[in-house]
Amino acid sequence: MPISGLVCKQCGKVVGASGLHWVWECPSPAIHPGLVQAALNAESHLGWELTPTTVLGSIRAEIIKRLLPYKPDARGFNSAMWGAAVGRMVEEGMVTGGWLRQVALEGEFWGHPFLGHADLVLADPGSGLWLIDNKAKGEWSFFLQKGRGELASAEDSAQLSMYARMRPKEEALRDVWEAARQKAVHLIAWYGSMLAAERKGEELDPWIKARAPLMTMEEIGGLHSGGAANTVREAVDIFVEARRRKEAGDSPETILAAVPMHCQSRFNGKVCRLYCGANRVCLGLAGISLASKGIVAIRDVEAEKL
Ligand code: SF4
Ligand SMILES: [Zn+2]
Repeated sequence: MPISGLVCKQCGKVVGASGLHWVWECPSPAIHPGLVQAALNAESHLGWELTPTTVLGSIRAEIIKRLLPYKPDARGFNSAMWGAAVGRMVEEGMVTGGWLRQVALEGEFWGHPFLGHADLVLADPGSGLWLIDNKAKGEWSFFLQKGRGELASAEDSAQLSMYARMRPKEEALRDVWEAARQKAVHLIAWYGSMLAAERKGEELDPWIKARAPLMTMEEIGGLHSGGAANTVREAVDIFVEARRRKEAGDSPETILAAVPMHCQSRFNGKVCRLYCGANRVCLGLAGISLASKGIVAIRDVEAEKL
């Protein structure tokens, strides 16, 4: 379902889902209106297909966004859009010597069809199949990654491992993909961040190249992504059941009553307040006050015009 309004924390209200509020009206905009518009375009493409990123994300939020209009805090678009822009740039920079970008993939996991897009792919008959995922991150999460050294996070390893077990949608690519995969699989996550050149006299390196191990489906299925109470395997079942009930004509409220709030423990319990665009709908349906999650109440007069 579409975004039906946007929260402007500065003005303390919900405004129309056009992004124009930040062009014309807001006295102290905290987000660029062009970036709001880019995010609105991206969010309007949400479908009911299973993808690795959907089942590795906040599963209740993913379902809410597909069932009900929701009103996210527009500032939350910043990191995703910033990351997407840098991701596009580095992909374009890499497309040389046989590397392909945004390769559409299909596969089947746990008896269900999955779709996905690999950022960068090289199917090389000599050295094997190379898959790269680019993660432009905020500082906090970048330094968390730095602590892991040159090993990708379990979530990013799971995403890349699922891609490695899929196949290109484009038939012409399949043979070369499969031949390379038989040879060897190389999974790499590149982590980058916009950092100061130095901090406390120490020079900072802005990118990390991290190796991701090829995880088994058992390991991926048992992962509690980002600290969620559910495993990835359970997220698949929850999503598929919600989709089935939607197709059967159940109301969004009835469907969501059966979807647990397993994602609230993600990112050390900060996800509902800081990263979830569906938080107001979710908490409202569950009868939980915004204040109990540290979320400021906002005036919502049917989403004001701009
Ligand atoms: S508010 Fe929290 S529990 Fe609800 S959907 Fe968002 S992340 Fe999940
Ligand atoms: Zn405003």
